[in-house]
Amino acid sequence: MSEPLMATYNRLPVTFERGEGVWLWDTDGKRYLDALSGIAVCGLGHAHPAIRDALCEQAGRLVHTSNLYGIAEQQRLGARLTELAGMDRVFFANSGAEANEAAIKLARLHAHRRGIENPAILVAENSFHGRTLATLSATGNRKVQAGFEPLVQGFVRVPYDDIEAIENAAANRSNIVAILIEPIQGEGGILVPSESYLARLRALCDREGWLLMLDEIQTGMGRTGRLFAFEHAGIHPDVITLAKGLGNGVPIGACLARGAAAEVLTPGSHGSTFGGNPLACRAGRAVLETIATDGLIENAETQGAYLVSGLRDALGQTSGLVEIRGRGLMIGLELNRPCTALVAQALDAGLLINVTAERVIRLLPPLILERSQADELIHKLSELVQGFLSDA
Ligand SMILES: *Cc1c(COP(=O)(O)O)cnc(C)c1O
Repeated sequence: MSEPLMATYNRLPVTFERGEGVWLWDTDGKRYLDALSGIAVCGLGHAHPAIRDALCEQAGRLVHTSNLYGIAEQQRLGARLTELAGMDRVFFANSGAEANEAAIKLARLHAHRRGIENPAILVAENSFHGRTLATLSATGNRKVQAGFEPLVQGFVRVPYDDIEAIENAAANRSNIVAILIEPIQGEGGILVPSESYLARLRALCDREGWLLMLDEIQTGMGRTGRLFAFEHAGIHPDVITLAKGLGNGVPIGACLARGAAAEVLTPGSHGSTFGGNPLACRAGRAVLETIATDGLIENAETQGAYLVSGLRDALGQTSGLVEIRGRGLMIGLELNRPCTALVAQALDAGLLINVTAERVIRLLPPLILERSQADELIHKLSELVQGFLSDA
């Protein structure tokens, strides 16, 4: 039988048939603890009744019309999201990459309107912003870019968590108009910057007149124990991008902006056929409501701290473990060696994890994680890691 799918993915040898909460069942009926949530997407877990009911109800009423017309669900979600984020306006897209595309276009248009003909956006080494041409050009990972040259111009790269590098860039160039950066680098290996980094970025952007654009596609929607990760820093960005957890699996992305940045995109300058359709927006609204009514942001903070301390207790003395770090339910365990093989071992053991940046085990469990499930995760993972490190 010929393979119908393009070879874009290295898939693990498992297919899931159904899910409930933090659990998934494969086609043989084996159960798995999902500590990845489809890469920070299913924050409410699988088959959440609130999401199911909202989607069924909406699907029975209206799935799609067009942005040629008013869309009540888009208005409702837009009003709620901008209020919660302290932003003025939102553009809805269908993915993270598209949300970042909107932010990049917004920054460029903003610059051109102010007479800057060749605008540049500061981006970080080790970053991940998506797979479209502009977003892979913004991404700080050669593997993501290789073979797709010529890249989109207009990005200036600096080391992450290094204010001096940005000061230098500011001193040497007059065409910088924005910074696009992750509050915590996700794909890059769960890298948490120093405490003052975002506040200093904010001050720099204020001084230079740059837009501070935060890619909260992975960190947003309660993941870090705040609705948005920028809240930890007590700052307010000009632009934020969201996707992953916003629809709990229904594709949706969002680019939010405030102040002058919110007025940049006008009719004809950007758009999307699907973006902000009634079904996706109904999902987003159900996610926001459920996160609030079920106290899931607090739960992410509590269970995240519990996981980190439990994993440190279990693994702290293990040689080969470099660091356990993260915020809320965005947790990385860095080993001193490549550990991609652990993903398949965990799968055998009924646990879904991921390895990023080659030697960082990444945990992104659903925000609904309960204490007993956290205990099971700690137990299973520490056994796997101990076995892995002692084998090598
Ligand atoms: C996943 C991710 C993206 C890309 O989102 P897609 O929906 O895959 O296009 C962009 N930025 C960050 C920080 C991400 O984690």
